[in-house]
Amino acid sequence: MRRSTTLLFGVILSSLLPSTLGTISSGYISPKQSMVDYTLGTSNENTWMILEDLMDFNPRYPGTTGINDTAEYIHEILEDTGADTSFHEFSVNGVPCRNVLGKYGAGQDASEIIIVASHHDARARADRDPDPELRDDPVPAANDGGSSTAILLELARIVEIMHATLDISKETWLVFFDAEDQGSGGMQNFGWIEGSTKFAQDLDSFLEANQSIELFMLLDMVGDDDLKIDGELNSDQALLSEFFALGQCLGYSDFFPQNPVYRRITDDHVPFKTLGIPSIDIIDLDYPEWHTTKDDLDHVSKQSIGGIGRVAEGFLLRKLVGDENVTLHDPHTGYTWSEGSCNEDGLDTGFIAFIKRYWYAFLIVGVVGASLVIVLKKQPSEV
Ligand SMILES: [Zn+2]
Repeated sequence: MRRSTTLLFGVILSSLLPSTLGTISSGYISPKQSMVDYTLGTSNENTWMILEDLMDFNPRYPGTTGINDTAEYIHEILEDTGADTSFHEFSVNGVPCRNVLGKYGAGQDASEIIIVASHHDARARADRDPDPELRDDPVPAANDGGSSTAILLELARIVEIMHATLDISKETWLVFFDAEDQGSGGMQNFGWIEGSTKFAQDLDSFLEANQSIELFMLLDMVGDDDLKIDGELNSDQALLSEFFALGQCLGYSDFFPQNPVYRRITDDHVPFKTLGIPSIDIIDLDYPEWHTTKDDLDHVSKQSIGGIGRVAEGFLLRKLVGDENVTLHDPHTGYTWSEGSCNEDGLDTGFIAFIKRYWYAFLIVGVVGASLVIVLKKQPSEV
């Protein structure tokens, strides 16, 4: 009797497990109605193809044909996607440099602007390479300069559609900085973040009289195949937390750990932070190939650049139309975000969400418990 009871419950449990495992992934979607029901459009494949194009221009450090071609390539994509484009020219130690700017939604009297930025230069010297012989070689920069630039160029295609089809009263600027990565001996008499520093100095010349920058969002080194974004300490911490929460909600908890590494990084957001503009830097500095000749396509991941691209796309849209007006769907993970709510594997940590997430575990514990009670009750009569 005991054996047959155990067997019976074993059969019930094994028949339950496949069905419960099959249903827990069907998400908990907020019933709240939103004005914009939006499916994130950033494509892993498109972003990767753009990154391959950038790598074909190597070497891409200031003064090379490669960086000239890179800037022209960026400018062409911005033009093709209907942006109001401009080059911002400057020189460092006699070397001509160019930032590239694309404005979307310009000419509509928008008073607020959101900037999404990347650096497009590659470091001239791989001075962290383990092989001393290679330290004067240029960095291929698939991750450091390539990954974020590819994401922004994929975003260009999508931002054009956002501004053409949605009711947006702000401008989006995509900005690609030159001469970010040549400090500490990268190139002679270059400092770090030269391009963004010059752009921030000249910012007023790009603004209409009534305009101001609401948010500055920088992406840098986001292609690591073991990506874990830092808790970057020069960033506005509330905004960075929002970005992390969105990433976790959309199914990218691996990229946005609950306990990130905290670092303070001198990057292209600092000149904008200094101007009092709320700024964040999405970066993973923990990359073994950083400033080596191995920062190549073998050490970056299509999933990383695609995933970060979609989180950045969603974050941008939230800020353009207001959190309360949008629901975001990620077709790659199947997860959904709307204000105050997440699907069941996201950040909705209330008691009800906990029960919803683990209902099958409660069921199993209940069935096992009930079977034990039955078995124990039977025992005296069997003796
Ligand atoms: Zn770098």
